[in-house]
Amino acid sequence: MMLYLMTDILYFCMRKHLFIGSMKRIFLHTCPLCGSDALESAMECKDYYASGETYVLEKCSKCGFLFTQNVPDETEIGRYYETPAYISHSDTRKGLTNSLYHIVRKYMLKRKRLLVEKISGRTNGNLLDYGTGTGYFAQTMKEAGWHVTAIEKSEQARKTALDNFGLQVDSEQTFSQLQSGTFHVITLWHVLEHLQNLNEMWEQLRRLLTSDGHLVVAVPNCQSSDAGYYGNMWAAYDVPRHLWHFSPETMRQFAEKHGFRLIRTLPMPFDAFYVSILSEKYRQTALPFIKGMCSGLRAWLRACRQPDKSSSLIYVFRIGQ
Ligand SMILES: [Zn+2]
Repeated sequence: MMLYLMTDILYFCMRKHLFIGSMKRIFLHTCPLCGSDALESAMECKDYYASGETYVLEKCSKCGFLFTQNVPDETEIGRYYETPAYISHSDTRKGLTNSLYHIVRKYMLKRKRLLVEKISGRTNGNLLDYGTGTGYFAQTMKEAGWHVTAIEKSEQARKTALDNFGLQVDSEQTFSQLQSGTFHVITLWHVLEHLQNLNEMWEQLRRLLTSDGHLVVAVPNCQSSDAGYYGNMWAAYDVPRHLWHFSPETMRQFAEKHGFRLIRTLPMPFDAFYVSILSEKYRQTALPFIKGMCSGLRAWLRACRQPDKSSSLIYVFRIGQ
């Protein structure tokens, strides 16, 4: 009996040691935007979605860039996406929130296509959609006559795109092999905040864009009115999956650092509803859907008056200063 007990204790200790010892994390000593080491803790956020772990968001006191500190590295982060409801990579329609998400997505796909065509002044050309997920936007553009290259890290999402649309989606390994100066438009819809090699990505984007091309990047806005309202419970902090938390000012600085200029900023006000409902769920309030809708409506109205307070923003860049 004693031997069994000792074996169990030994096994438990070994597992615990292995888990902690094997978890590779990235600790940043300097700001990825300006290189300053003047970093200060801004808040603590919990991963309500997958792990329950707490992460510190650090802010650079020189340039104001906000990021998640001590995140699991590329080899470990995959497990933090592995829940059935990760909506951008799956097609679950369970629950009112997810159903609403799908209705809004259909409307937004059309708006995204019209936006790309308006800003680029083209109705066809070479388009790269990086982080295409299950391929809805890429397929929409393909059907509209664009020559689309789609890249997605998740093998499951690539398979779903192929099964649903017959859409060929490449893995991220092919990205660095794409021909320079090829794409008239490059889109990253809620992707940049997930990418570990942030500066390298900006450089690749500049390499791949044609000299008169347009780069379209949508990311959550950490200076939105809903971010201010929910504080560290704001669902779009989404730690540790969201590594970077952009504001209009830090996006502009990143663009300039990598040879782009920001030519337009457009609001994505509907995101406020989805993010607010999720935030209410995290707060464990009663009737999260109704409260989230009310809160989302307030944020939406505020964004109508002040677009740079929108829950998410679409940034449009061109090459050159
Ligand atoms: Zn900085």
